[in-house]
Amino acid sequence: RTVRDRLAAGTPVLSLEFMPPRPADDAGRIWQNVRKLESLHPGFVSVTYGAGGSTRDNTIAVAARIARETTMLPVVHLTAVDHSVRELRSFVGALADAGVVDVLALRGDPPGDVTGEWVRHPEGLEYASELVTLLREHGDFCVGVAAFPFGHPRSGSVAEDTAHFVAKCRAGADYAITQMVFDADDYLRLRDRVTAAGCETPIIPAVMPVTTMKTIARSEQLSGAPFPPRLAERFAAVADDPAAVRALGIEQATLLARRLLAEGVPGLHFITFNFARATTEVVAQLPVFP
Ligand code: FAD
Repeated sequence: RTVRDRLAAGTPVLSLEFMPPRPADDAGRIWQNVRKLESLHPGFVSVTYGAGGSTRDNTIAVAARIARETTMLPVVHLTAVDHSVRELRSFVGALADAGVVDVLALRGDPPGDVTGEWVRHPEGLEYASELVTLLREHGDFCVGVAAFPFGHPRSGSVAEDTAHFVAKCRAGADYAITQMVFDADDYLRLRDRVTAAGCETPIIPAVMPVTTMKTIARSEQLSGAPFPPRLAERFAAVADDPAAVRALGIEQATLLARRLLAEGVPGLHFITFNFARATTEVVAQLPVFP
């Protein structure tokens, strides 16, 4: 079964995002957290694709291990950064060999720079939509794509970005996952724009529970989108009390998740950073995921 099948069931799908362990990470601890999160029975889990180096090779290995050793359905993120079309085809072949049929097709960012200028590999792809087409040509993959509530940071305008997003869906995407969302209205505006353009691809909002003040700065760095100022003020007011910051983060993520569920989202995608506790605490307060 694929993400497409799980979404077709019509009940909200819980999904979790992991990163392949880096050489300096404690891989044993990360796998313990993966096993703990398995008890939440997510509909799927996704494994990110690094901007280069060893975590790239690890992506398939981690996904294959999840498929082999757990009950969870892995989705592999794949980017076009620094890859020729020939390399992308060979990676896609390796995925098929590993039994992975779910892929999140992304263009990716220039290594180390979310806002820097995109430079295509001379024999590579320009846009994620081309990667969607490549996957579709290769076999029966279930393909997800990225969505940006504020428009992609490199887009001229939100309207332009919406048009490109809809074209990417029409290239053959089964679903989309958003950049992290902290205010449900940002997600709802995106959904309204896409629906108004006649596109019905399910869009899953991504939730990242704030656990420290650093995660707020990191969210802006990773997403290129502003953290909601009114929420930032509430965190700033308790900034010197780490327990209060964490409690507020869990409370806010829970309220956000409940509101999104009440608005009929197809699922919720939790960015875990390979930690189990915050996601578990939030999900425990959402009766829709037994
Ligand atoms: P695209 O859809 O190609 O869009 C890129 C830009 O091009 C946009 O501005 C778009 O509007 C514009 N565009 C698209 N089509 C056209 C066209 N025909 N003509 C003109 N302009 C066009 N990065 C990683 O490196 N590894 C990961 O694992 C990873 N996981 C992610 C998961 C999620 C859920 C999200 C939201 C992002 C993730 N990213 C990841 C980041 C992502 O790769 C970057 O944000 C990247 O800059 C955009 O990727 P995209 O697939 O949306 O690109």
